[in-house]
Amino acid sequence: MTVEAVPVGQVCNLKCTYCYENTMREAGNLGGSYDLDAMIKTLREEGQQFTVFGGEPLLMKFPDLERLLQFGFETYKGNGIQTNGALIEDRHVELFKRTNTYVGVSIDGPGELNAARPPKENTEKTLRNIEIMVKSGVGVGLIVTLNYHNAAGGRLEYLKSWFRELDKLGIKSARLHLLEGHHARDIELSKEDTLKAFLELYRFEMRELKNLRFDKFDEMLSLLSNDGKNVSCVWNDCDPYTTNAVRGVNGDGSRSNCGRANKEGVDWVKANSSSHIRQLALYHTPQSDGGCGDCRFFLVCRGYCPGTAIDQDWRNRTEHCETLKDIYGVLEEALLNVHKTPISLSPDRKQLEMDLLAKLGNNSVVRNQVHIDWHMNNGVFTGTVPVK
Ligand code: SF4
Ligand code: SF4
Repeated sequence: MTVEAVPVGQVCNLKCTYCYENTMREAGNLGGSYDLDAMIKTLREEGQQFTVFGGEPLLMKFPDLERLLQFGFETYKGNGIQTNGALIEDRHVELFKRTNTYVGVSIDGPGELNAARPPKENTEKTLRNIEIMVKSGVGVGLIVTLNYHNAAGGRLEYLKSWFRELDKLGIKSARLHLLEGHHARDIELSKEDTLKAFLELYRFEMRELKNLRFDKFDEMLSLLSNDGKNVSCVWNDCDPYTTNAVRGVNGDGSRSNCGRANKEGVDWVKANSSSHIRQLALYHTPQSDGGCGDCRFFLVCRGYCPGTAIDQDWRNRTEHCETLKDIYGVLEEALLNVHKTPISLSPDRKQLEMDLLAKLGNNSVVRNQVHIDWHMNNGVFTGTVPVK
């Protein structure tokens, strides 16, 4: 679970066309003012390390940012911050070092590869700042969103040469994001280009990179192998009204959810209890109606992040479904080639799905509804299906 401190709300110095926070901006729910005492009180109650988030958190007044990060360092021994990197100055680098702050930078590549994140003069500044931070000993990771500008046609080679440079620089982590198409259809990759880009980067990571890792492939392989390793929230039955993986702390100290789930432009107050109704409904809904019915990857996907749902409606499965199926299909073969059976092809798959549904049902508001495949056993719902 991540605690996100959001002092400046959705206010940002860039105008990225695909930003999922644009829904909030268009609705006029920008936020932008903060009361540090109120935030620190709530962050203390949360009792764990936090990441400063935005919008662009470096729009905070420097002394306020310093106080926030110093509080995090003294209380929790370190911090995170997620930034577009363009506003970083020497004093920020010194502050990050002094307060053991890990810096996540969102950037899609050098030059034209970063065209979805205007204005373009900021790209050079961000690249320079990444280098300065790494050479100064600040921990840096990247978020790279694959889109038409950085992964279509020959630009994929350009992206790979940039990753080679980052690898040499010593950066260890880059999270590859799938573009949320409903914000930016014009720069969406075709299904074929998305698969090509992912597979090319998967092979590239294995064959050429020494330091840099793209977490998506590790997570998907780990899920297919059923090895129990921790994976990110998108695979973890997220409820859009509680987003258990994210506890936001707003500028006034109130609590909120992950912004990716705010599709109506409203930052809903965090609900007190969570529900798995999305995953249960998706399992039982045919794919022709927006669900995941009969998908062999349900155990390892469960409809993915509700913030990426078809038509921005969390009741639907993700709009990335076809891409995920393609990638999982390739990873299945990779496991079979080393004589491992992916969970998606396990003869026990149906029983494992029933066990999962029972688990989700026990922690959900739908547990009072009896499903035909479930029965009560010592007050716990369980499911049993014949294994063919
Ligand atoms: S909405 Fe998506 S990104 Fe946000 S916590 Fe849920 S799964 Fe994660
Ligand atoms: S791959 Fe598609 S159909 Fe299968 S579980 Fe994921 S979103 Fe649902």
